[in-house]
Amino acid sequence: MSWIQLHEVERPTVVDTLRLDELEGGRIHRLAVRILEDGLAGPIRIPVMVARGNAPGPVMGLSAALHGNELNGIPTIHRLLERIDPKELSGTVVALPIANVTGYLANRREYLDGRDLNRIMPGKPDGYESQVYAHRLIERIVRHTEYLIDMHTASFGRVNSLYVRANMRAERTARLARTVGADIIVHNEGGDGTLRAAAAELGIHAITVEIGDPHVFEDGMIKTSRIGVRDVLEDLGMLSPDRETARKNAIECTRSYWLYTDTGGILEVLPEPTDRVLAGEAIAYLFDPWGQRIRTYRAPEEGVIIGKSTNPVAHTGSRIVHLGAIALL
Ligand SMILES: [Zn+2]
Repeated sequence: MSWIQLHEVERPTVVDTLRLDELEGGRIHRLAVRILEDGLAGPIRIPVMVARGNAPGPVMGLSAALHGNELNGIPTIHRLLERIDPKELSGTVVALPIANVTGYLANRREYLDGRDLNRIMPGKPDGYESQVYAHRLIERIVRHTEYLIDMHTASFGRVNSLYVRANMRAERTARLARTVGADIIVHNEGGDGTLRAAAAELGIHAITVEIGDPHVFEDGMIKTSRIGVRDVLEDLGMLSPDRETARKNAIECTRSYWLYTDTGGILEVLPEPTDRVLAGEAIAYLFDPWGQRIRTYRAPEEGVIIGKSTNPVAHTGSRIVHLGAIALL
């Protein structure tokens, strides 16, 4: 008896662009959307899953791994779609589990040419490689959605709470942010080359969700975000409510910023993500190699810890904590 069990799988359909109207209702379609050609003259394709309902309704876009090493969104999408019966769905879910194909293959954040796809959106039709990739990703796939949840994680050497960045002045976007089950919501208007900002320019209600750490699958975080995304589909009337909900009263921040070390040493950060801190409270110590404390860093104002450094090796200008300021909008 072989220890390797083979499963029957469906072959993806290769397409040049998404044509939702041509996809049959009541089923999940597996597509490979051609974006660019590589140096072997072969195609670079983005895997796309489309759950097409029988009844009309909104088009929800879900994207993950736009930073190629930020992986928790991949099983969030897979496990969510596994649990959706498209016959019960009103509308369409368009999911891109691996938005940055070359970064994913190389275990790194950036695209193949070293550029950050989430800083150059909406790209250009005739620019350098990552700009063309960004442009076609939007034109061929993202443009066909009405809502978008772009899933990220913290960067290497840091940990995050489950937090959302969204333009809280836009009503439907704010509702999306409050429904997805995050611990913290940070108001951010965009205009920063992100996919979220580029989608918003197209009239798509878009939020960014940061789910845990890079390079790993974290089951707890994945479960919460999977339930939270389903809550959003229920809130939009695309699915009838089930018993699970990730809904909580998120802490809403009007702005956020990182605090950096002013010199080098061995860094110890005191609070954990989602902890509240008061103005003047000690948040980190810096030691020299002889074990002497050379700095105590204090919170400059009252706030909440959104993320923190987990790397004790601090040079001048190393990140300490990502602090969210809590105040009424
Ligand atoms: Zn990211």
